[in-house]
Amino acid sequence: MIGTAEKYLERVKDFRPRAFVGGEQVGNLLTDPNTRPIINTVAKTYDLACDPKYQDIMTAESPLTGERVSRLNHLAGSLDDLELRLELTRLMTQTTGTCCGRCGGCSGLNTVAAMTYAMKLDGKGEYHDRFMDFLKYIHQGDLSCNAATTSPKGDRSRSPKEQDPDLYLRVIEKRKDGIVLRGAKAHQTNAIGVDEMIVYPGLFNKGEEDYAVACAVPNSSPGLTYFLQYNSDDAERRAAEDISVLGNPLYGGRQTMLVVYEDVFVPWERVFMCGEVEYTKVCAQAARRTHIFNEGPCKAGFGDLILGAAIFLAESNGLETEPHIVEDLVKIIAANETTYATAVVAARRGSDIPSGSGIYFADERFSVLSKLNANDGFFEVMKAAADVAGGLLVTMPSENELKDPEKSALLLKYLKGRSDIPTDQRMRMFKFLNHYVASSHAAQAWIGGGAPYHLRMALYEGTDMDEKKELARALAFGCEQPNEG
Ligand SMILES: Cc1cc2nc3c(=O)[nH]c(=O)nc-3n(C[C@H](O)[C@H](O)[C@H](O)COP(=O)(O)OP(=O)(O)OC[C@H]3O[C@@H](n4cnc5c(N)ncnc54)[C@H](O)[C@@H]3O)c2cc1C
Repeated sequence: MIGTAEKYLERVKDFRPRAFVGGEQVGNLLTDPNTRPIINTVAKTYDLACDPKYQDIMTAESPLTGERVSRLNHLAGSLDDLELRLELTRLMTQTTGTCCGRCGGCSGLNTVAAMTYAMKLDGKGEYHDRFMDFLKYIHQGDLSCNAATTSPKGDRSRSPKEQDPDLYLRVIEKRKDGIVLRGAKAHQTNAIGVDEMIVYPGLFNKGEEDYAVACAVPNSSPGLTYFLQYNSDDAERRAAEDISVLGNPLYGGRQTMLVVYEDVFVPWERVFMCGEVEYTKVCAQAARRTHIFNEGPCKAGFGDLILGAAIFLAESNGLETEPHIVEDLVKIIAANETTYATAVVAARRGSDIPSGSGIYFADERFSVLSKLNANDGFFEVMKAAADVAGGLLVTMPSENELKDPEKSALLLKYLKGRSDIPTDQRMRMFKFLNHYVASSHAAQAWIGGGAPYHLRMALYEGTDMDEKKELARALAFGCEQPNEG
């Protein structure tokens, strides 16, 4: 079934996480200034799914229930599904200006489905059956999920067993009725606002079986502690008396948190891998091929908002037809669409994992390219937007000053742009653009979804250098004339 924002908000009232932000304990998720934007963003996924205009993009038919469900909980069953997921992602960022976290959940569900399917092919079908039962439960309630895969990792040059063993999430006990987890997951987008965290491992080697764990952990499970991120954007929001002066008032910036697991119990029916380290390879491959192709449309959605703000500010500066300003706008358009186009190619060239499973994943090479384009493209977009907007992008006084008539008169006079564009709107748009191009977004876009070096190496290693060399050799050294016969 398709859930509604109302039902989701009802469930949120029962979330009782042990959580901290800015040195304070989070009380009510619906009123805390740093958690409310998370809830608004997840609620928006339900609102859009209920809007008939977006039904094809936001929903899909569940083979498990026969009903329509959120596409964010859907296993991609075709190349069309993959492409529709891209449309969904761009729509979500265009309409919230932030990350809903459920796209990670969608990646998690698809990854675990493929991984357990691979185990089933080798005679370990129990995990897949359990997972499909769990997925049916998710579909029946249209519950929200996020992806819980990144471990804190500590000293990256050391393996999990060569340092504090808790720096990677691990199983510390197997009981008759389930397993006990200890460790942490880092940078968990919107974890505090979703119904379920889909836990799955990175790549592990023989001897590291305790770390090869996949399962589903409900919000607020006993033993979990959430430490919310606290950057300057979050601090500004916590201090704000009036959210309308913030960069993205309703939905805020991308929200992540460190989630610590202190002996968290998970019953067997929610465990989808426990020690089968040899399947972490297929898990990592599926995770890459379902998540990073999604990074392109995500950044293209942010880029669309940046483009809109840049056009508004170019007009308010009276410069929208100046050749170099038009050139800046073209750079933004090109970066957005290139990154999106690469993701579409990744989707259209996808295939199922494992072969014959019917669970579709994007092409790895073009997924990597899409993410790399998104990384570099986003910085190009930021440069171009700053060039269009000018210094007020980072030097503007607070809109709070407009609440006092005397100060307001001065600011409305000296921050004026083109006379037909109200100065308070111009100030608003500068603040909006500042939120994207002079904030934590840059680093978030760069590193989120995976460190680029490893992706660049995947591209390098996935290229047949000998084949390219042969192409060059054939022309450079082959001087035989074509047969004129
Ligand atoms: C905004 C945001 C949202 C996110 N959301 C989620 C989420 O919802 N769920 C989730 O599970 N994760 C999430 N992540 C985590 C994200 O996937 C990681 O940040 C990413 O994989 C990089 O890991 P890291 O941050 O530990 O950086 P690192 O891996 O430490 O990278 C830092 C640098 O070290 C290098 N490096 C690291 N290890 C090695 C090594 N062994 N050898 C050589 N070089 C190395 C990297 O190449 C890079 O240059 C999110 C991250 C961000 C920023």
